[in-house]
Amino acid sequence: MDDCIFCKIANKEIPSTIVYEDDMVIAFNDLNPVAPVHILIVPKKHMTDILNVEKEDMKYIEAVVEAIQKITKEKGIAESGFRVVNNCGEDGGQTVKHIHFHIIGGETLGGMA
Ligand code: 5GP
Ligand code: ZN
Repeated sequence: MDDCIFCKIANKEIPSTIVYEDDMVIAFNDLNPVAPVHILIVPKKHMTDILNVEKEDMKYIEAVVEAIQKITKEKGIAESGFRVVNNCGEDGGQTVKHIHFHIIGGETLGGMA
């Protein structure tokens, strides 16, 4: 999608530090990390948010879960634990309108607000 920053990152039009990629998803370091590990997993198909994933696109969500398993093992945080965050909409604090999942870890995280 034109003017979507995560589509541009997925298309390599905007540089990012890619930590994992397959046919379905791309994962890269967040520009403003909130913890030692802060990675965004982004489906390569433009979908606005979790409310707008069509039935036939659920395979992207499966790919996200697979990527979480691979990346957390690779980064050495699978054992210690981590958090997966999906912000949705205005009150959820979603700033980029292309569905994405944050992997946050590498330290003991505070309780949920
Ligand atoms: P949201 O608040 O929408 O859930 O998360 C968007 C995230 O994308 C933020 O954590 C922000 O730091 C990150 N972000 C925004 N623009 C860029 C960018 O151009 N490159 C990277 N690597 N991260 C970005
Ligand atoms: Zn997009």
